[in-house]
Amino acid sequence: MPAAYKRILLKLSGEALMGDDAYGINQGIVSRIVSDVAEVQRLGVEIGIVIGGGNIFRGMAGAASGMDRATADYMGMMATIMNAMALGDAMRVAGVAARVQSALNIEQVVEPYIRGKSIRYLEEGRIVIFAAGTGNPFFTTDTAAALRGTEIGAEIVLKATKVDGIYTADPKKDPNATRYAKISFDEAIARNLQVMDATAFALCRDQKLPINVFSLFKPGALRRVVMGEDEGTMVHI
Ligand code: UDP
Repeated sequence: MPAAYKRILLKLSGEALMGDDAYGINQGIVSRIVSDVAEVQRLGVEIGIVIGGGNIFRGMAGAASGMDRATADYMGMMATIMNAMALGDAMRVAGVAARVQSALNIEQVVEPYIRGKSIRYLEEGRIVIFAAGTGNPFFTTDTAAALRGTEIGAEIVLKATKVDGIYTADPKKDPNATRYAKISFDEAIARNLQVMDATAFALCRDQKLPINVFSLFKPGALRRVVMGEDEGTMVHI
């Protein structure tokens, strides 16, 4: 059976790379993510990845301790570049063709983000890892995922989280909480469900770009989402 999508944008939070560690990049977890992504690539799906930086630095945290917010955000963006490099290198080790592109110019280290080039890489079957978020302070990598997803013409944004979807209540606190298999953008707003941050959510909604929230820690979940099976929560128009 063919995959449900030809091109996807996968959003990985920086925290996803930490595993059970308190900080930084856990190589075991990174290798596991690479093998999950490679499995989906073998289905013929073109994959763009936006990676966060929360395992290293978040602008909000810097601002809370008195830093200038924009400066702190640039540090956060640089954290995402480190994560992108770690992920890109783990792909190289696994023999998976991937390129890293950065929204902040740091050309000695990674190539700059050039939309046309990233689309060509995708067409050639390479995974493109988008680093440095949108390149602008006061945004998040969720918004970068919505933006890059739109720019590359992805059919869906897959938001990898620790929970396998959006629930009616916090499943850790409420045993009666149930998972939404799908929910519309309007209903998610009406129920005040936190799918992505407000800017990212609004962009996806305006661009009619569906979002699937799924668990990165559930074996086979990414593949199931890509195959169009009932996995995670689909946020649709
Ligand atoms: N960031 C930014 N602009 C962007 C994307 C990210 O300024 O377009 C900064 C911001 O400080 C953010 C940090 O980079 O806190 C790390 O990104 P994010 O918090 O989205 O990472 P995640 O939560 O996904 O690990």
